[in-house]
Amino acid sequence: MPIPASALPPHPDPADPVARLERLAAQPGHDGRLTHVERLPARDGRPSPWPTWAPAEVVERFRAHGIEWPWSHQVDTADRAWRGRHVVVATGTGSGKSLGYLLPGLGTLATAGAPVRPRDRTPTVLYVAPTKALAHDQLAALDAIGAGLDGLRATAVDGDTPRSERDWARDHATWVVTNPDMLHRSVLPSQARWARLLGGLAYVVMDECHHYRGVFGSHVAQVLRRLRRLAAHHGARPTFVLASATVADPDACASTLTGLAVEAVTEDGSPRGAGALALWEPPLTETAGERGAPTRRPATAETADLLTDLVLDGVRTLAFVRSRRGAETVALTAQRQLAEVDPDLRELVAAYRGGYLPEDRRALEADLRAGRIVGAAATNALELGVDLVGLDAVLVCGFPGTRAALWQQVGRAGRRGRSSVGVLVARDDPLDTYLVRHPEALLGRPVEATVSDPDNPYVLGPHLAAAAQELPLTDDDLALFGPRARDGVEALAAEGVLRRRARGWFWTRRDRACDLADIRSTGGPPVQVVESPDGRVLGTVDAAAAHSSVHTGAVHLHRGRTYVVLDLDLEASVALVERSDPDWTTTAREVTDIEVVEPRARQRWGAAEVVLGSVQVTSQVVGYLRRRVLTGEVLGEEPLDLPPRQLRSTAVWWTLDADQVVASGVAAPDVPGAVHAAEHASIGLLPLFATCDRWDIGGVSTTLHRDTGRLTVFVYDGHPGGAGFAERGYAVAERWLRTTRDAIAACECRDGCPSCVQSPKCGNGNDPLHKAGAVRLLDVLLPG
Ligand SMILES: [Zn+2]
Ligand SMILES: [Zn+2]
Repeated sequence: MPIPASALPPHPDPADPVARLERLAAQPGHDGRLTHVERLPARDGRPSPWPTWAPAEVVERFRAHGIEWPWSHQVDTADRAWRGRHVVVATGTGSGKSLGYLLPGLGTLATAGAPVRPRDRTPTVLYVAPTKALAHDQLAALDAIGAGLDGLRATAVDGDTPRSERDWARDHATWVVTNPDMLHRSVLPSQARWARLLGGLAYVVMDECHHYRGVFGSHVAQVLRRLRRLAAHHGARPTFVLASATVADPDACASTLTGLAVEAVTEDGSPRGAGALALWEPPLTETAGERGAPTRRPATAETADLLTDLVLDGVRTLAFVRSRRGAETVALTAQRQLAEVDPDLRELVAAYRGGYLPEDRRALEADLRAGRIVGAAATNALELGVDLVGLDAVLVCGFPGTRAALWQQVGRAGRRGRSSVGVLVARDDPLDTYLVRHPEALLGRPVEATVSDPDNPYVLGPHLAAAAQELPLTDDDLALFGPRARDGVEALAAEGVLRRRARGWFWTRRDRACDLADIRSTGGPPVQVVESPDGRVLGTVDAAAAHSSVHTGAVHLHRGRTYVVLDLDLEASVALVERSDPDWTTTAREVTDIEVVEPRARQRWGAAEVVLGSVQVTSQVVGYLRRRVLTGEVLGEEPLDLPPRQLRSTAVWWTLDADQVVASGVAAPDVPGAVHAAEHASIGLLPLFATCDRWDIGGVSTTLHRDTGRLTVFVYDGHPGGAGFAERGYAVAERWLRTTRDAIAACECRDGCPSCVQSPKCGNGNDPLHKAGAVRLLDVLLPG
């Protein structure tokens, strides 16, 4: 309930937004919603002297930009890089990771000075960002710091770069900012023309490298191996400097990505203002979900209420919501509620629908700074490249998928050393529910790892072909591309696309080998998403994901906008969509069958087994469910007629023998429901350990599988060849399955709900499910 307008201070300057939040949580009927508040005390920075090797003119430039002394982690990173050691810096949002590579990079260029002749080999730096926008932001920062510095000639090379500028970059640039797509499609395939840049490479910077995960990460890892080979061919052995959000094992993740031994810097030496992380769980409601299960109040509705109340209290608040439609709903709901208190208050909240143009962003930022706007709702798309300061509170509507993304969003609050609060509002699913009840999973040492699988043959093959076209592949090269490279080139030779000659393997065709790999997707030609009636192509969807994400009738989100799919034409690989704002969402339902191809690794827990191996998956999208946006109410299920699909992938599975099933005490008729419930919950919780979301993985459960001969639960990677998720599940199997067990046991529902064992994508309509039985089976499985 809104608080009276008289409570609004004339000049909002809330001393402590946490106290305001606690007051909201103490309102009648709000019991139990605020599940945890962690106060994060202010931290003093640890400044460090400038390294003695840093040229004075470079240090002066940082000083001129207000950096009198660097922080310890910046110097630690820069020092290692300067000494030629590959390094990843994994510290918090806003800790100034960029100085770690700017200092050695600019130092190297300044020491070498300006070349005498245009094509002279001078040192060069390649900066790679996951998005074009981020690359441009970095270029602007570099231009500001390095303007006029001897030896620095920086430019961006991406899809929009005109030919003349690209030519200039080839002949003159010493610092090139680009993205992996551009390396893959343009720079590496025409390596001879980039010989100056490649042959001079002193540093390769991989910024925001936690974005390189799953299949995309596997592709980027192979692009970097191609880059390293060509650099070596032209005479350079660059040092890699990577910047990552805080994740588990950043050194291991960076080593997998680059194929090199990478050291990690994780001690954050930057200062931090006092802050707090609050966890908020919406209540269970009377709205009946599937099979009569209770459902929670949607996170959007709860976020809108919090935004209203905080704005009334004068707390400057930004809400991050997944879709633009969701962001608009939150802002409009808050405006309506404010107007009920006083019509003038409506203006205090921005219904943020201006798009993402820099001028819109700046206008919103200025209004928030000046206090003309006190609250706004934005989509996660703003996460990169937004510079909002002076916020008192950030509301995160639903866990944004990774801990790194959560802290990035929460980190928008309180940058000026004022006290601030970030609030995670849980959605109705097992992962969010677990997190708001287990603050240690968000606050302790990170357990989520950025995983990828560069050895996936479906990824590796096209990159071997591309590499061979760039420069014939020799036997010595194969080690660089990993243990499966020899099988890979032999398979390509058998297909006739590579031919072995005395100097190595050659590409035999006339077309471009790099076109064989779309580094942002896998599994055949992507499906084009085309807008009706004007025929504009909005984007593409992975072939593998098309059946479940753009089937006829699907509500499809694109850059935060909502579309409804009119028709999915599989033959033409086109999904025809129409702009529309229905008040429901859709989730596809899938049935799956799985066959074991080859076990690769095995752990025995008593009579139980956990296995990692390759599998053949047959899955079919059989229908979809419609649910109301604001209440989560199920509106109905529609059948679909789509063909089954085959997928060779990697899975982790666990099995129990017949005696163990008896020992679990689950009555025989309840065993199918128990094993099914355990499967759903384990899929819901794997994203806690591997940076995937539940749509990247799938599962099968059965009381008796024909290949294992036992009760078995499979969880598989939904991408051809695998993406590293199942492998991560295998590596942390005990923690993952124990977490699954505890999450099911802790849910306050009686017979299962979306917060524990119900799955939105279940092809069997969440039937049968047996919640208590799932806990008993997992108790028998887990080692004592
Ligand atoms: Zn439940
Ligand atoms: Zn199911």
